[in-house]
Amino acid sequence: MLGQPLRAAVGLEVYVPADLNTDLLGTFSGEVDRQGTPREVALRKARLGMNAAGLTLGLASEGSFGPDPQLLFVSADHELLGFVDDGLGIEVVEQILSPKTNFAHDAARTFEDLKDFLARARFPSHGLIVRPNSGLQPGLLFKGITKTAALKEALERCASASEDGLAHVETDMRAHMNPTRRQVLLEVAVGLGRRLATLCPECLTPGWGLVDVVRGLPCEWCGGETELVSAEIHGCPLCEYRESNPRSDGLRVAPPGECSWCNP
Ligand SMILES: [Zn+2]
Ligand SMILES: [Zn+2]
Repeated sequence: MLGQPLRAAVGLEVYVPADLNTDLLGTFSGEVDRQGTPREVALRKARLGMNAAGLTLGLASEGSFGPDPQLLFVSADHELLGFVDDGLGIEVVEQILSPKTNFAHDAARTFEDLKDFLARARFPSHGLIVRPNSGLQPGLLFKGITKTAALKEALERCASASEDGLAHVETDMRAHMNPTRRQVLLEVAVGLGRRLATLCPECLTPGWGLVDVVRGLPCEWCGGETELVSAEIHGCPLCEYRESNPRSDGLRVAPPGECSWCNP
């Protein structure tokens, strides 16, 4: 899935080593906690694949889901791809924050209670995970549910085993269970391909792109600094060279609604 855009951009072939268990680095469903930032986890996963395959190049994705930090009531998919090239001595990370996600959870006693949730979760084209609402119990974690009969059975078993009589139901965010996430992953792979095809203007190493942002976009009314991004910093994965560019979306002043002075 990630292969096509990377092949098209820079001629890389993606190879998935057999028997690679990245669940050891954490799972979405919470059996194993993830250690470190998404960036650290993605790069660690890439190195795990490189060791398994005996290659000097590695690629791994890491997704996290939750409320959008700007729009607190809207879910967002933060998708990150980590790329390692030990031949060049670089680590390149490309990421996006996309509002395109079905990420959601609910607690229910019966299938009928779930009607609204199932529409939001885009079941059955998107998979679900079910467990007892009061917490994980051995043998009661059902992943990758895409059939109504299986969902009903999991609900019944988990609800009756839960202290509060409810089953916890959540969207299965693993890429093979989630076509919406696959779309976002494709977008970030296109972004990584573009980035690997872009050379540092100073040392000509591939991977030039966004590495940081500067906040403080001036308010349209009072000119005071807001929390909005004012500049995008592009950088090289190898040398220290950086360039500061104005926002790529063309916004030069912040709406007064973003200003703590004009709209406290
Ligand atoms: Zn203001
Ligand atoms: Zn450079």
